[in-house]
Amino acid sequence: MIIILLGPPGAGKGTIANEIRKKIEIPVVSPGDVLRSAIQEGTGLGKEVQKYVNAGKLVPDDLVVKITEERIRQKEYQQGFMFDGFPRTIQQGHALESLNQRLEKRLDQVFYFQASYETIAERLSSRRVCSQCGAIHNLNYNPPRIADRCDVCGGKLVQRDDDQEETIKKRLEVYNNETLPLVDYYYEQKILTRIDANRDVEYRFKDTWERLMELNLLKGNL
Ligand code: AMP
Repeated sequence: MIIILLGPPGAGKGTIANEIRKKIEIPVVSPGDVLRSAIQEGTGLGKEVQKYVNAGKLVPDDLVVKITEERIRQKEYQQGFMFDGFPRTIQQGHALESLNQRLEKRLDQVFYFQASYETIAERLSSRRVCSQCGAIHNLNYNPPRIADRCDVCGGKLVQRDDDQEETIKKRLEVYNNETLPLVDYYYEQKILTRIDANRDVEYRFKDTWERLMELNLLKGNL
């Protein structure tokens, strides 16, 4: 299956992707993760994208599409995958469509995680990620057992540079202008499922999982 997890930063897309992966083996395609690693490693790509990511702006479409294509052509993505953070513009949506055509793949469903501004601002400012394995923690809902240490691997927990208050505002503005139009785009294609992302993770996951079952998308994975 190929699904998209769509929604504002802080809606919990990455968390739901992880919950799904606890149940079935399916890779995640997250340009944000690829870009952050490139920045951390100081590669050519990292240097090129750093100014966009740190300012909360979108990286140019052609670059993100290229990264995504490289990923989904790899062997381990051939049985299906989830997109977390792609597409983020209508142009990227079009690029995905033509990529799917060329690769003879089909997008099955788009899960739209809808959350209020209050939910998003609160989640992002209390989010901490592991600097080693990327596991997501939240100081309010999912606090680490040992302060500043990852529950999964013991790595140091850090706040993402772009989770600072000013950058959060910028990212939400960019989301409203650039990404939100994709909701109508997929709604019109009749492949959109709306999930109330203000609710706790158990409910968000339950709604998503039940819909995947209803759509019969889990066959072959369970
Ligand atoms: P994320 O981890 O998905 O929140 O992404 C972090 C940052 O990476 C975003 O604020 C953008 O700067 C960049 N980024 C991630 N995905 C995309 C995308 N599909 N298009 C453009 N920029 C992206």
